[in-house]
Amino acid sequence: HPEKWCRGFNHFISQCLIKDFEQRPSVTHLLEHPFIKQVHGKEMSLQKQLAELIQEQQQLGSTAKTRHERIHTRRPYHVDRADKFSLDDDLVNLEVLNEDTIIHQLQKRYADLQIYTYVGDILIALNPFQNLSIYSPQFSKLYHGVKRSSNPPHIFASADAAYQSMVTFSKDQCIIISGESGAGKTESAHLIVQHLTFLGKANNRALREKILQVNPLVEAFGNACTAINDNSSRFGKYLEMMFTPTGAVMGAKISEYLLEKSRVIKQAVGEKNFHIFYYIYAGLYHQKKLSEYRLPDKKPPRYIDNETGRVMHDIVTKDSYGRQFEAIQHCFRIIGFTDEEVYSVYRILTGILNTGNIEFAAISSQHQTDKSEVPNPEALDNAAALLSIGSEELQEALTSHCVVTRGETIIRMNTVDKAADVRDAMSKALYGRLFSWIVNRINTLLQPDKNICGMNVGILDIFGFENFARNSFEQLCINIANEQIQFYFNQHIFALEQMEYQSEGIDATTVEYEDNRPLLDMFLQKPMGLLSLLDEESRFPQATDLTLVDKFEDNLRCKYFWRPKGVELSFGIQHYAGKVLYDASAFLEKNRDTLPADIVVVLRTSENKLLQQLFSSPLTKTGMFLFLKQVQKLKLKQYSLMDLLSKMVVGQPHFIRCIKPNDDREALMFSHERVLLQLRYTGILETVKIRQKGYSHRILFEEFVKRYYYLAFKAHETPLGSRENCLAILEKSKLDNWVLGKTKVFLKYYHIEQLNLFLREV
Ligand code: ATP
Ligand code: MG
Repeated sequence: HPEKWCRGFNHFISQCLIKDFEQRPSVTHLLEHPFIKQVHGKEMSLQKQLAELIQEQQQLGSTAKTRHERIHTRRPYHVDRADKFSLDDDLVNLEVLNEDTIIHQLQKRYADLQIYTYVGDILIALNPFQNLSIYSPQFSKLYHGVKRSSNPPHIFASADAAYQSMVTFSKDQCIIISGESGAGKTESAHLIVQHLTFLGKANNRALREKILQVNPLVEAFGNACTAINDNSSRFGKYLEMMFTPTGAVMGAKISEYLLEKSRVIKQAVGEKNFHIFYYIYAGLYHQKKLSEYRLPDKKPPRYIDNETGRVMHDIVTKDSYGRQFEAIQHCFRIIGFTDEEVYSVYRILTGILNTGNIEFAAISSQHQTDKSEVPNPEALDNAAALLSIGSEELQEALTSHCVVTRGETIIRMNTVDKAADVRDAMSKALYGRLFSWIVNRINTLLQPDKNICGMNVGILDIFGFENFARNSFEQLCINIANEQIQFYFNQHIFALEQMEYQSEGIDATTVEYEDNRPLLDMFLQKPMGLLSLLDEESRFPQATDLTLVDKFEDNLRCKYFWRPKGVELSFGIQHYAGKVLYDASAFLEKNRDTLPADIVVVLRTSENKLLQQLFSSPLTKTGMFLFLKQVQKLKLKQYSLMDLLSKMVVGQPHFIRCIKPNDDREALMFSHERVLLQLRYTGILETVKIRQKGYSHRILFEEFVKRYYYLAFKAHETPLGSRENCLAILEKSKLDNWVLGKTKVFLKYYHIEQLNLFLREV
C-alpha cells in the first residue's frame, strides 16, 4: 500500500536523520536498498517522490529532531513547574466534553509523541510503536516524589503515586493495566517495575538485578507471537513487589493464571509456539549442541515448525533467537537457579519437542483394527532419553491404557487418534507444570525475609481482549477474564462511588455507564450460566461439542448470546468490547484437560529429579479448568477475577488504560475509528465525567484525622476522629471542593496529593 508504506518510510527516514544526522549520505543509499528496488524499483515516480522526501527531511532534519525531543524539552524540567502546568495533560480539564473533543485531544498529543494523558488519577497510554527516549534513569529521577503536575503525564508518575501512597499510608497498592492485545500492557508493566525498582533503592543491588530479570524470564516461557502481537502474553500475571516499611525493595512474588497450554502442541496459521522453544532450538543450533539434545539440525521439530521452512530460515540467517537464548541463560543465573536445575529445564523442553515428533500408525491385522504403533521409534527413544524414562514404558503409556472393572485391571489399546491425543496431553502437562515450577522457584528465590512485615505494590498484566478470525476456548477464557477486569473497573469508578454518595447523603451527579454485569451473569450464574453448562456437559462421556452448543442455545436465552445459522459449532457473544464468534470445536476436551494416569505413572519414574517433582503432587486440575472453577466460586464476591482481584479490593487500585492507536503497529498513525471504539467500550467519556464531578477518595473520619491531624493540631495531641476535627483539618489546609458525608470525607483525586504535600511541609 504505497500511501501507508510512504508514511512508514517517511518516519523511518526521519528516525535515521535524528539518529545519524551526521551520516546523511547513508540515508540516500537507502534508495539503493534491495527492498526498495524490489518492491518499487520500477515505479520511478515513487523513487522520485522518495528522493524529494529525503531532501525535505534533510532540510527539516533539525525540525524533526526538535519534534522528537519535544517530549524532553516541551517544558523545562525545573522543580518550580506550577506556572508551566498544561491543561492539556488531563482530560478532566476539557471544557467541552464529548467523544470528539477527547479524541481530538488524544490525537493532537499523539502527533506530538505525548503518548500519556491523565483522566484524573487514571492514566491513558497510547502505544507509540517506537522506542521513545523517555524512560532513562534521568526520567526516573525527574518523576521521583514530585507533584504530579510538575511534569507531563508519564507511566513513572503513576508508579510513583502508587509507591508514595504505599509508603505514606502503609497500605498495599495495586496497579491494574488493561487494554486489548497489543495495546502495550506488558511494556507498561516493565516500565513500572523499572521505576519501582529505582524508587525502592535497596542496598542489596543483587536483589534489584534479580527483580529486573523476572519479567524477561517468565515472558520467554509465557509469551508468544500471535497474529496481533509479536510478544503476546499467553498467561495472566500478577507481580507483587514487596517493600520494607521504609520503602526499600525486599522481594517479589508472581502469580500466574491461565497459561494457554494448547499452544505447545498447535498454533494457528501465522502464529508461533512459546518463545522459549525457538530460543532453545536456535541457541543449541548455534552452539552446535543439537545432537546432545537429540534434535535434528535440518528441520525443526514439528511443534515449532508450522510454517514449513520459515523457522529454520530465521534460525540460520538471523541470530536474534540465539542471542535471546543467551539472555535467558543469563536471567536464570542472575535469579539464582542452579546449573543442575537449568539443565533439567532444558532437557524437559527438548523432551517436549521430541515428544511432538512421535508418530502413530494403525496396526492393520485382521482382528485388531483399532491398535496403534509408533512407526518412528527413534523419536520415541529420543523423547524417552531426554525425559529420563524408559522408552518401552513410554510407548505402552501412549498406545494403551488400563481400565479397572470389578477389581480387575484390563489393558485397552489406544486408536491412532487417541494415542496422538495422549501424546499431546503429555506435552501440555509437562509444559504447564514446568512453567508453574519456574514461577514458584522464582518466588522462593526472591522471597523476602519473613521477619519483616512489609507492604507491596501489585501489578496486574493479563492477556488483552481478543477477537481473531477463529476464536476457541482460550479466547473465551481470555475474554471472560477481561470482562471481569472491566467489571472491576466499573465497580470501582462508578458503582461503588455512586452507592456511597447515596448512603452518605451526598448530592452528586449520577453518571450513566455500560454495566456488563448481566453478561457476567450469563457466564457465571449457577446452575445455568455458560461455564456451569460447560462443566456439566464435560462430565458426560457421550457429550460432543455439538451437544454442548445445543445446550448453550437451549439455556442461554439472552441478547448477549446467539447462534449463527448454518455453522453448527459456532456461537456468538456480545462482549463489552465487541461481538466475538466462537468455534466450539474441542471445547469439551480442553475443559476436561485430563492427563491419563498411565502417563503420570511413567513420568513419576523419571530419573530427572525435577521432572519427578513436577508429577509427584496429587493430580489436581490446573490452568483454565481451575480458573473457571475459581471464577464460579468467587461469583458472590462481586465477580472478582480469582483470588487476586479480591486482594486488590483491599489494596488501593491505580488504573492504566492502554490504547492501541492502529492495527498496523505503525508509529505516529492514529486511527480515529479504532481509538474511538476503545474509548467507547472502556467508558473513557463516562470516566472523564465522573472524575470531573465525582470524589474518587472517600476516607473515614477516624482514618482522615489519624493521617492528617498534623495539619491542624500539635504533634502530641490525639484528636478524636470526629466530623468537627475533619472540618478543622480541611479548613486549615485551604482545599476547595471537598464534601463531608455522614461518616467519611469525600475528596477529589487531586486533593490527596495536595494534602500529602502539606504534610511534608509541616
Ligand atoms: P497482549 O495482550 O497481546 O499481551 P500487550 O498489551 O501486553 O498485548 P505489549 O506486548 O505490551 O502489548 O505491546 C506490544 C508492542 O507494542 C511491544 O512489543 C512494543 O513493540 C510496542 N510498545 C508498547 N508500549 C510501548 C512503549 N511504551 N514504548 C515503545 N514500544 C511500545
Ligand atoms: Mg502482554
